Amino acid sequence: MSSSAGAAADALTYEQSPLTIDSLPRELAPGLFGVRFALPFALDHVNVWMIADDDGWTLIDAGLADQRTRDRWQELASFMAARPVRRVLATHFHPDHMGLAGWWCERSGAELWTSRTEWLQARALALDTSEGFVAAGRQFDHRAGLSVEQADERAARGNLYRPRVSVPPASFRNVREGDRLTLGGARWQVLIGRGHAPEMLCLYCADRKLLIAADQVLPRISPNVGVWPGEPEADPLAEFLASLAVLRQLPDDCLVLPSHGQPFRGLHTRIDQLVDHHRLRLAATLDACRDRATIVEVMPKLFERQLDRHQIGFALGETLAHLNLLVGQGTIIRSLDDDGRLRFQTR
Ligand SMILES: [Zn+2]
Repeated sequence: MSSSAGAAADALTYEQSPLTIDSLPRELAPGLFGVRFALPFALDHVNVWMIADDDGWTLIDAGLADQRTRDRWQELASFMAARPVRRVLATHFHPDHMGLAGWWCERSGAELWTSRTEWLQARALALDTSEGFVAAGRQFDHRAGLSVEQADERAARGNLYRPRVSVPPASFRNVREGDRLTLGGARWQVLIGRGHAPEMLCLYCADRKLLIAADQVLPRISPNVGVWPGEPEADPLAEFLASLAVLRQLPDDCLVLPSHGQPFRGLHTRIDQLVDHHRLRLAATLDACRDRATIVEVMPKLFERQLDRHQIGFALGETLAHLNLLVGQGTIIRSLDDDGRLRFQTR
């Protein structure tokens, strides 16, 4: 989904590229266009990439499944008219990326290209109307330390994923780590980013020194790395940091095309900032567990600002991500108490 504001913006030493992305398609490399779509969230836009191929367009992400985004695609129809949309390569299952992939596939006969885990996750969530889904969320909230009222209010929202996506197609093409794709006459290497999403696709073009980074490396904001009710003992932060270490092997002077914010150079600096950001938060998390604490009690040590209802879910998940990494390292202990709350304490 969206990403939490986090890393300080005052220490930027990476450079924004003069190639800015706006609501009109902008050619960033031969046949590769970037266009910005508005989002109705605190994170108010997402970038979509369009690659012109001989046989048609390849869209990299499709935007949120809301009327505003559909209208915007209609407005782009004349720009796109010379070619049909042949494939939608969805970087990951979050609604601002996968949202209209199914819609495009249905209306243009395009294929969906994504990783197997992102496809499975998107299909499962888009179709999940089960009571078990809500119950898992309620149990997660209770264990975290939320009140019954807060948990009820969140449960009443049901599955928020479903209304934000068109159902992804029942068949797709699996894009795997290390695959080489030829798109728009250029060769792209597939890299996988984990932690923000389970198996997110990033694409690197060595010839053009371009990195389509999806949400793995963003300028200005730290990608949300959260634990969700579906897998409460997951350790996405360890996966996220391991993925950053892999991406850091790419050349520092490549142009990074992020899904949110503007293109920039200085990949290594930005990755180092993101790693530092999590190191500081891990230290704060450890400190908060000197006395036994619930997730809700640890959360304000990591998120000092007031959080609205939408942000609480992200903040809880991100707090638990830091706790679970420390549990995995053996520096804190997790226990489930008789009151049904999880508590964490340093060893
Ligand atoms: Zn995103």
